[in-house]
Amino acid sequence: MEEHDILLHACCGPCSTASIERLLEEGWNPILYFSNSNIFPEEEAIRRYEALLEVARTYHLQVINEHYDHAAWLASVAGFETEKEGGGRCERCFSYNLAQASQKAEELGFRHFTTTLTVSRFKNSKMIFRVGEQFPSFEPIDFKKKGGFDKSVQLTKQLGIYRQSYCGCEFSKH
Ligand code: SF4
Repeated sequence: MEEHDILLHACCGPCSTASIERLLEEGWNPILYFSNSNIFPEEEAIRRYEALLEVARTYHLQVINEHYDHAAWLASVAGFETEKEGGGRCERCFSYNLAQASQKAEELGFRHFTTTLTVSRFKNSKMIFRVGEQFPSFEPIDFKKKGGFDKSVQLTKQLGIYRQSYCGCEFSKH
């Protein structure tokens, strides 16, 4: 891998749009990594993956799809199921997905990885960075800065891709 290659953990198509544009503007070469065993049910994960494929086609980027294992994810948040969104369950969820991304980055020889999770206005970037700090190749990029969230909304509309109405797990479905 080259110095500017970066594995981008992509939570969904919409959040990936603005993140990809920012990475490209800053000289990175992103490869997308869809690893989201938190999403429930599996059909929803497939739907989000398909939206990501549309985005990847638009930017001519490669996508790596990780095996979906919701049971393993559930085990990682055991005891925190009823926490409100943004609390301990989410911190564990970030940790689960970033650990997977870190492992994949190492396996493939990437010197850097990051996540689209920081695009969302509903997610605390500081919490994501705190979790990311435990992985040496994690790049703490706050994609919601520089108008990232609004840009993701606008690009999603432009591309006409699916935008979900809940975060991902069964506990976030209202
Ligand atoms: S609400 Fe979202 S971030 Fe929190 S645990 Fe569920 S899927 Fe993960």
